[in-house]
Amino acid sequence: MNVITTVAEMIAQREHLPRPLGLVPTMGYLHEGHMTLARWARRDNRSVVASIFVNPTQFGPSEDFASYPRDMERDLQVLQAEGVDVVFAPTVEEMYPQGFSTYVNVERVTEVLEGARRPGHFRGVATVVAKLFTIVRPDRSYFGQKDGQQVAVVKRLVQDLNLGTEVVVVPTVREPDGLALSSRNVYLTPQERRAAPVLYRALSRVRDLYLAGERSAERLRQEAAGMINAEPLAKLDYISIADAATLEELAVVDRPTMVSLAARFGRARLIDNVVIGQG
Ligand code: AMP
Repeated sequence: MNVITTVAEMIAQREHLPRPLGLVPTMGYLHEGHMTLARWARRDNRSVVASIFVNPTQFGPSEDFASYPRDMERDLQVLQAEGVDVVFAPTVEEMYPQGFSTYVNVERVTEVLEGARRPGHFRGVATVVAKLFTIVRPDRSYFGQKDGQQVAVVKRLVQDLNLGTEVVVVPTVREPDGLALSSRNVYLTPQERRAAPVLYRALSRVRDLYLAGERSAERLRQEAAGMINAEPLAKLDYISIADAATLEELAVVDRPTMVSLAARFGRARLIDNVVIGQG
């Protein structure tokens, strides 16, 4: 496995990598969710590039950029074991050198949910993803459904700027009790960790009610909110029932729909989602 830290080297290398080439963008501190993305990329492509870059432009001033968990040595071992060919792990200065002034702004789909609560977050995501696509030129790129709004933003970005990569969405990988794997789960105290599966229980309840015939988005939101508000360690931020592509809130569930939520457990802010109404 080749570990590359400069943009120039990555551009030189990509010309020699057999096609098709799959890209797995990550911020490191890898878990089974990231590994599943790498496995899918390995299965589908002749070359796999994984990137590890904690992207400062997607963190707000009061967010956890400085303290975001990092473990490069372990991450490299994990990626090697998954058969990744190249790891692109640039420094912040390499990606954002002196004078950097160009940002990618995806409108509308970034203005709700996480985007409304984390101003500038998706501007940072879209900018770094556009840079990674330009540097690596992947035929396919792999993203987790766990970050559902990010999927909608990246799909919009790829379509609008003709970036020519197939966006492959990988289902959320969960702990046996339903908690979605996340690098930020390390912030949970043991007590909070025991409480956190309420999020997936609430999402599952919404899915079950939908499957039993409930189509009122408001009744589904109320049901999920009731379950989460009954957990004393959870502080619900939002529960959304929205068009899966545009993320516009729905009154009636009559199309592919993302049911998403965010809640705080102490220091950790967790997000999760399920998709309903697909065919
Ligand atoms: P991150 O390192 O958190 O930026 O995540 C890198 C990629 O892994 C993103 O596309 C995430 O959506 C994806 N990912 C993170 N957690 C999971 C999970 N539990 N299941 C599936 N994909 C995930």
